[in-house]
Amino acid sequence: MPKTIYLDNAATTMMSREVLDAMMPYLTEKYGNPSSIHSFGAESNAACEDARKKIAKFINAKDNEIYFTSGGSESDNWAIKSVAYMKKDKGKHIITSGIEHHAVMETCEFLARDGFEITSVGVDENGIIKLDELRKAIRPDTILITVMYANNEIGTIQPIREIGEIARSSGIIFHTDAVQAFGHIPIDVEKDNIDLLSASAHKVHGPKGVGLLYIRNTIKLTPLIHGGPHERKRRAGTLNVPGIVGFGKATELARESMKDASKITEKRNYLIDRILKEIPYSRLNGDRDRRLPGNANISFMYIEGESMLMLVDMKGIAASTGSACASGSLDPSHVLLAIGLPHETAHGSLRMTLSEHTTKEELDYTVETLKGVVDRLRSMSPLYEDAMKENKEV
Ligand SMILES: *Cc1c(COP(=O)(O)O)cnc(C)c1O
Repeated sequence: MPKTIYLDNAATTMMSREVLDAMMPYLTEKYGNPSSIHSFGAESNAACEDARKKIAKFINAKDNEIYFTSGGSESDNWAIKSVAYMKKDKGKHIITSGIEHHAVMETCEFLARDGFEITSVGVDENGIIKLDELRKAIRPDTILITVMYANNEIGTIQPIREIGEIARSSGIIFHTDAVQAFGHIPIDVEKDNIDLLSASAHKVHGPKGVGLLYIRNTIKLTPLIHGGPHERKRRAGTLNVPGIVGFGKATELARESMKDASKITEKRNYLIDRILKEIPYSRLNGDRDRRLPGNANISFMYIEGESMLMLVDMKGIAASTGSACASGSLDPSHVLLAIGLPHETAHGSLRMTLSEHTTKEELDYTVETLKGVVDRLRSMSPLYEDAMKENKEV
């Protein structure tokens, strides 16, 4: 295998050539400011509006419900902080889940330090939110429910429609971080009862540094970024024209490639099945079926995920332990702990996320490499040695 095998598509994706081609004019000769009245500006403005239309249609929203941002993190911050400060006279209670992305989790923690009360609803052993617990968590002063659409580490897809219904019937605003879902599984903000939704271009073969917040028209969300009258006075700053155009193109391409999502699912299942069958003491994390097409997250007992990651990297495979944002820290993933894994097992986890470009040959090479790496690490592991001794005695 000559080139690197990229199995870290949940961290970011390769930008499509078609996306670059669509962006190129707006990085070069078409440099007008979309706010300007002259024809240069009008051209840029038209390109942004075209992207907005495509993206809105894709999630069954109206054009004027799409607000462009700098990415998923900004969208999450905007949604949660603005609802909190808008509604603080009604109440200061926010409900979230125990497996959110850091952009949501840290924002909630920030608000908690500012007098808001956060209830984190538990998930089952597969990472599906406990709906009964969610219903019970609702109080008269609850102002927001924020639960992610699909998890970035274990790929679990939440019962978003039901969560939306619960929020709607209690008159509570519902935000979902759909960064991992957008462009990978169908989203319908109407059917799903979603009020606010975050998405990001670079997770769907678009450029980095551009995202969106969907804001239902009935919600007059206050700005996070104050300044000029851009984005209907809700998000100041000259529009990232090339980024927005690229996001539009990436969405258009995702609409097509999603029709072939089952091919990615098949490859992912092939990878999971081979690993579980051929590598002893391995387990799949997350729901087998209610899971993003490209996500495989597996724990290998008696090894350290970080060591595994480095060894497979030396063999040309790019994977991840938990989330990229968490790597570099020695704490095990909060998501893996939330689904009940003991610390040691959580530490030995590897996330491999596929794209439509991933081939079966690459997966075969990956499985063979993993077998070698796992064997090697276990042969050096006192934990493994002890466990084997105990097993023999049984
Ligand atoms: C990547 C990611 C984010 C952050 O998006 P950026 O555009 O990188 O800021 C937020 N939430 C989830 C679930 C993600 O996977």
